[in-house]
Amino acid sequence: MEPLKNYINGIRESSKAAEVMDVKDPATGVTVARVPLSAQDQTNKAVQAAAAALPAWRRTPAQDRIQYLFKMKTVLEENLDEISRMITRECGKTLSESRGEMRRAIENVEVACGIPMMAKGEIAEDIAAGIDEIMLRQPVGVCAIIAPFNFPGMIPFWFLPYALACGNTCVVKPSEKTPATMDLIFHLIESIGLPPGVLNLVHGAREAVDGLLDHPDVRAISFVGSTNVARYIYRRAAEKGKRVQAQGGAKNPLVVLPDADMDMAVRIAADSAFGCAGQRCLATSLAITVGEAHETFVEKICQAASDRIVGYGLDPETQMGAIINQTSVKRIEALIQDGIDEGAQAAVDGRGAVITGYEKGSFVRPTVMLDVPPGGKIVTTEVFGPVLGVMHVEDLDQAVALINQAAYGNQASLFTASGASARKFRYEVQAGNIGINIGVAAPMAFFPFSGWKDSFFGDLHGQGSDAVDFFTQKKVVVERWPKDWSRQF
Ligand code: NAD
Repeated sequence: MEPLKNYINGIRESSKAAEVMDVKDPATGVTVARVPLSAQDQTNKAVQAAAAALPAWRRTPAQDRIQYLFKMKTVLEENLDEISRMITRECGKTLSESRGEMRRAIENVEVACGIPMMAKGEIAEDIAAGIDEIMLRQPVGVCAIIAPFNFPGMIPFWFLPYALACGNTCVVKPSEKTPATMDLIFHLIESIGLPPGVLNLVHGAREAVDGLLDHPDVRAISFVGSTNVARYIYRRAAEKGKRVQAQGGAKNPLVVLPDADMDMAVRIAADSAFGCAGQRCLATSLAITVGEAHETFVEKICQAASDRIVGYGLDPETQMGAIINQTSVKRIEALIQDGIDEGAQAAVDGRGAVITGYEKGSFVRPTVMLDVPPGGKIVTTEVFGPVLGVMHVEDLDQAVALINQAAYGNQASLFTASGASARKFRYEVQAGNIGINIGVAAPMAFFPFSGWKDSFFGDLHGQGSDAVDFFTQKKVVVERWPKDWSRQF
């Protein structure tokens, strides 16, 4: 199988990388693609192409730039099924999860079509007699987008449509674990006819990323991935004077009050913890039960975990797909063991999963761990697998205090019938995304995808109006026109 090619300056070309990795379907073990780990010469070339395309793209009126996005939306919609199947094949999630992912990608393209309205400037006349002040928004320059493995179709679209619509040019670096989806998307959107160099794709890993971080012509970095890498990206890029938005890992709590609709709470908690096999940054990984909620919730969540049908994402009856690779399976299983060693009880233990017909696959079944200890490794470490820890406290104050002690702040959820409790929760909890009777509080494209504490490094988030602020730089002009505009001269 030929290695995937980079897409630079409108041309698909071999990266000539010294190292090429196999990308395997995590459920079947079949090779889906071969990905080159491009060296810095490739990122340099892509950045050069993006820099060369910038002046003409910047001068293209915003209303003309978004015409390409309208076409992009159509192409993504027409090929949604093919793209979704590729996501499932290389990432392992179910086909309906892959479709949902692509719907959110398309929604971001739709919102970015409003850039001519959203990226307008401001003007104040007569700040002194005859003098006006204007704030213009201009593109930042060449932007780089570095993506994780778990949403290979959606995450680059948290940034890409806004960057382009605001007049920037881009280099996208997908995850080397799931590169084939973005490769396919680039093949498909070639038909929209973007000018060469406006949108480029480089396959690779650390060396390619460093090439983007260090290149002086890259002015903005949008990163999504694990916290350690996010912190590294933020530091290294900020030191070079670039603007950075770096979304990191998570450990999301979900609190269940005794007045909650328990059936709904359990169903949604199970979907949140085990959907995408727990490999999403908004997955619930810690349930905190309050008062009498404990007994009913534990009994029902254990049942829901045991009932979940695990298998190949393309099989229609599958409710939970595969884990990205064997390394991840081993890491998840080791963390479950750490939890047991710390005194927790694996009430439903998903280790050692073998799925008939998919014996070569990487699977962990849904796992529920009871009495996980505060401060324990299983409570503080992002598992990124289908593992739900359960803790018990006496009241909402204790639950909020537990949540706020944590290092991460991506999402927190509350299940209750009480408006007062809900308000207290959303007011006091230190997390960027809050769900009230919602288990995956994923913001729509017209809201920023927030994230606090160790879950985000930067100031402006992806999506919504933050994206407009991130992908434009403000210029303020104070101007006076003598005589004809002011009688004072
Ligand atoms: P990862 O950090 O391993 O990789 C992300 C990207 O960084 C990839 O493109 C990879 O090539 C690159 N990279 C990896 N190590 C690097 C290094 N040392 N130097 C430079 N670049 C490097 O993340 P992953 O395993 O692909 O994705 C899972 C993680 O992403 C989880 O922690 C998850 O919570 C997080 N995530 C966060 C969000 C969010 O919105 N906050 C969304 C999705 C995923």
